[in-house]
Formats: sequence, C-alpha cells, structure tokens
Amino acid sequence: MEPIQQFLHWIKESDHIVFFGGAGVSTESGIPDFRSVDGLYHQEYDYPPETILSHTFYMQNTSEFYRFYRKKMLCLDAEPNAAHKKLAELERAGKLKAVITQNIDGLHQAAGSRHVLELHGSVHRNYCKSCGRLFDAEYIQKSKNCPICKSCGGDIKPDVVLYEEGLDDETMRQSIRFISQADMLIVGGTSLAVYPAAGLIDYYRGSKLVLINTSTTPFDHRADLRVEGKIGEVFSAIEL
Ligand code: NAD
Repeated sequence: MEPIQQFLHWIKESDHIVFFGGAGVSTESGIPDFRSVDGLYHQEYDYPPETILSHTFYMQNTSEFYRFYRKKMLCLDAEPNAAHKKLAELERAGKLKAVITQNIDGLHQAAGSRHVLELHGSVHRNYCKSCGRLFDAEYIQKSKNCPICKSCGGDIKPDVVLYEEGLDDETMRQSIRFISQADMLIVGGTSLAVYPAAGLIDYYRGSKLVLINTSTTPFDHRADLRVEGKIGEVFSAIEL
C-alpha cells in the first residue's frame, strides 16, 4: 500500500489520535521555519537566531531581541492552512484528542482546534513583568523598542519559551498523558531537533507512529510509517 493510503486507512480506523507538530506545519501559511533551506537559520543576521531567541540575549539586548521578534516571529496576517483546518475537523469529529505544538503562532486555535497544548508558549500572550497585566500581539507589534506596560511602566515579555528557559510542567505532563494514551500518533513538520519536546515521542506506546515531513528526521527509523510531502497537501487527502 502507498504510504498515503496507509495513512488514510489508519486515520479511518483510529479514534484516539494525537498530533504533535512543529514549525513545518505553518510554512504553508507563509511563516518561515528554522531549519528548512529558506528557514531563519539560513538567513543572515548579526547573531544566529538561537542566540537572539535566548533568555540571556533577551535580558542583555532587549531592543535588538524585539527588532528580530517583531520582524520574524510576529506573523499576524498569517492564516491557517489545510493541515490546521483538517486537524480541527478531526477533533470536532471526535477522532483527534489533542494537538501538541512547538509553534507559537496560534494558528491551530485560529483554525478551530480547542485542545491545543503549546509547549513553547504563544506570541498572542504577553505579560508585564512588574504587575502581570496581559497584552495582545498587536500591542507588541505597534510598540517601539522594548514594549512598556500601560498601567505601571514595567517591561513586557512574550509568553514564549526562549532558549535556556524551561517548559511549563503542566503542559509537559498533559502532553505525556495524551501521547501515552494515543492509538495513533501523527508527528508532522518538525525536525525533532529541539529537546525536551522531541523526547515526547518516547511516550507513545502504540503501533501507528506516522512521521510527515518534506525531509528526513533523526527519528525516521522509529516510525511505523513515513509520509514524505507537504503536510497541508497530505492532510487535504483526508475525507471525513
Ligand atoms: P524546525 O524549523 O526545526 O523544523 C521544521 C521541519 O518541518 C523541518 O524538518 C522541515 O523539513 C519540515 N517542514 C517544513 N515545511 C514543511 C511542510 N510544508 N510539510 C511538512 N514538513 C515541513 O522546526 P521545529 O522542529 O518546530 O523546531 C524549531 C523551533 O522553532 C520550535 O521550538 C518552534 O517553537 C520554533 N518556531 C516556531 C514557528 C511558528 O510558531 N510557526 C516558526 C519558526 C520556529
């Protein structure tokens, strides 16, 4: 059977599907990922992106951090693509139990997914480090240099997990629970190079681990099925 046919067959027979994805899920929405050929790691900056997006850099060069962040991480005009939309449909149909994402763009929720676990936070939540007041992404987009709280003048930080920062315990716990209970785990659009997120795959106990990617990953040998292709196109083939 062709990989895509096997994938569609497993989707049909499964009713406890969990999806685990990364930046590749949103490239078809026009948001660049990190590691593809035209991803952010292959563009020229004064510092590599992993340096700019680190806690140390944020603390020491806050204005420079925000210059990069506004330009490259805030893609507020992006719209959900076929993969985001089909995942939301699968959830409404009762077949998919959770989307676990490394993305910070909020596109799964925009597509209608309700059970979304954001391992690395979201650009849509920003908080004042002094008084805790919350701000939306538009506020950050419109502000200059380091955004300042309207209420108390404190510095605002995005609720995004930077390099050197830990992941939220409860989000990790729930992700582990969903993955360990899944009858089918679909892993798509992630290079599986970022830990501890990539290690979540170890908690899957079933025999339908599907990897969807345009290129290879270090976990390919673990997959029960590899579907090579663009994730939006692959998900478009699902009929509910
Ligand atoms: P990554 O950039 O390391 O890897 C992306 C992977 O997706 C690659 O393996 C690539 O081959 C694949 N890919 C690209 N387009 C695809 C498509 N259309 N269909 C199928 N596969 C496709 O991304 P990552 O693994 O998520 O890890 C990087 C980190 O980058 C994450 O922590 C994430 O928070 C952050 N990030 C998020 C966004 C976003 O929110 N949209 C964008 C860039 C980076």
